[in-house]
Amino acid sequence: MEKRIACNDVVPGCTFTATAATEEELLKRVMAHASQAHGVTELTPELAAKVRSAIRNHVHAK
Ligand SMILES: [Zn+2]
Repeated sequence: MEKRIACNDVVPGCTFTATAATEEELLKRVMAHASQAHGVTELTPELAAKVRSAIRNHVHAK
C-alpha cells in the first residue's frame, strides 16, 4: 500500500499528484512541488494539517 496525494485537494486547480511509501516521504515531495509551483517556503502546522488530511491510502489493484 502506498500513500497518494493530489495537490488539487490543497490548492484547487493544481494537477500535481505524488505517491510515496511513507507519509514522511510524501510530505517531502509535496513540499518540493509546493516551493517550486506555489512559492511555499515553510511547512507551517496549518499547511501540514491540510496536506495530511489530503493524503489517501492507495491500494494496488492486482
Ligand atoms: Zn500544486
